[in-house]
Amino acid sequence: MAAQGVTPRGEDYARWYSDVVRMADLAENAPVRGCMIIKPYGYELWENIKSALDSRFKATGHRNAYFPLFIPMSFITKEAEHVEGFTPELAVVTHGGGKELEEPLAVRPTSETVIGHSFANWIQSYRDLPLLINQWANVVRWELRPRLFLRTTEFLWQEGHTAHATEAEAVEHTMRMLDVYTDMATTECAIPVIKGLKSQQEKFAGAVDSYSIEGMMGNTWALQAGTSHFLGENFSKAFDIKYLAEDNTQQYAWTTSWGVSTRMVGGVIMAHGDDKGLRLPPRVAPYQVVITPIFKTDEDKDSVFAFASQVSELLAGAEVRHHIDERDGLSPGFKFNDWEMRGVPVRLEIGPRDVEGQSVMSARRDVPGKEGKQIVPLDAVAERIPALLTEIQESLLQEATAFRDSHLHEASSYDELKEQVKDGWSLIWHCGTRECEDRIKEETKASSRCFPLDINETWEPAGQTCTVCGQQAYGRAYFSRAY
Ligand SMILES: [Zn+2]
Repeated sequence: MAAQGVTPRGEDYARWYSDVVRMADLAENAPVRGCMIIKPYGYELWENIKSALDSRFKATGHRNAYFPLFIPMSFITKEAEHVEGFTPELAVVTHGGGKELEEPLAVRPTSETVIGHSFANWIQSYRDLPLLINQWANVVRWELRPRLFLRTTEFLWQEGHTAHATEAEAVEHTMRMLDVYTDMATTECAIPVIKGLKSQQEKFAGAVDSYSIEGMMGNTWALQAGTSHFLGENFSKAFDIKYLAEDNTQQYAWTTSWGVSTRMVGGVIMAHGDDKGLRLPPRVAPYQVVITPIFKTDEDKDSVFAFASQVSELLAGAEVRHHIDERDGLSPGFKFNDWEMRGVPVRLEIGPRDVEGQSVMSARRDVPGKEGKQIVPLDAVAERIPALLTEIQESLLQEATAFRDSHLHEASSYDELKEQVKDGWSLIWHCGTRECEDRIKEETKASSRCFPLDINETWEPAGQTCTVCGQQAYGRAYFSRAY
């Protein structure tokens, strides 16, 4: 049984992606087009992302709750922009219990409306604010061009929803959660994201302002990996979320919402994968270490397995997520290649000679060949392996950062932008208008990603005009091809 390779990225990137998802056993297509079956290896990757987010949400004062999957259609229509934005993607239930329903029910595409309804009941006075809620759930947005993890009709996510007494506080919270996402993407997923303001055209339907984190994938396309929205009083007015202020006046609350989904799994795959397959950052990898026992005789097998379980105990003591590949009938070489393709950060080989030498041979996924190998004495396993994982995590982030930085360009003319978006992101002075963005998209396939916050100090700076259309610029924005 020979290990079959994935399609090289340079040959066909889309094919490479689907090969990796399938061969690494992450997910597969469901009977209903656009839906996905997330397999254990893919789900464990998501669970690690999820718990890294969940602990950050709790540390910033949020509590988890759960709201219904079905939302009365009348709720969806209460906020004008919201209904306009989501109607084309809605799945609607018209029958239940064998009867036509009096009011159709939307399968939640997002929960601002149903949560807004609850917030109106929960919030009475300024003492009830801020209200900081998060929900882990599935949502449905009908997808015409599905891609596993990247665009699926049903996906998993978290949606945070908060209400505040003042506009300033709500804006501050929107930015705080954007920072939480930035930290999670960078620290856990080793994806050096750029955070910024979305253009009015690209913002969330019903938001005043939307912010996003944008990561660069291995083919230089952008992936919007998380969004944080300042909703102003839009949903408060639609759902009557009012509170009694300290001065005894009735005020509308200011709300925010923010989400990260299973798209992030697609981001991890594409930000780090190479021509051999997946490369997982240790902090989110389902298995940080896989041990492959090597033996020929039964006698060797016993001693190799006994030694492997000693190593396993040391790894468990050091809280390293690991797995011993005990599969029968597969050669060590096959197993080694298989785990390499599946992106395991560190592979350990244990053969009779290692048992004799009381050591293991380690191989790094991110450093191919001899260079990435080292002999680790048994008594150093508990110390050296975690240190190695930290080193790999840092090195993947550095590599992704260097790759991104070498594909970030600045254009001083529309012609330059056209060239630059063929292989990277192009930063221009941008007016932010729909007309201009539509034109760029049609002519170059590149969309506006964001106005990066660390680049733009002020909006509509005097004397700066759009690189493409010449109108007053709103700020500097990145354009690129995107998922
Ligand atoms: Zn323009």
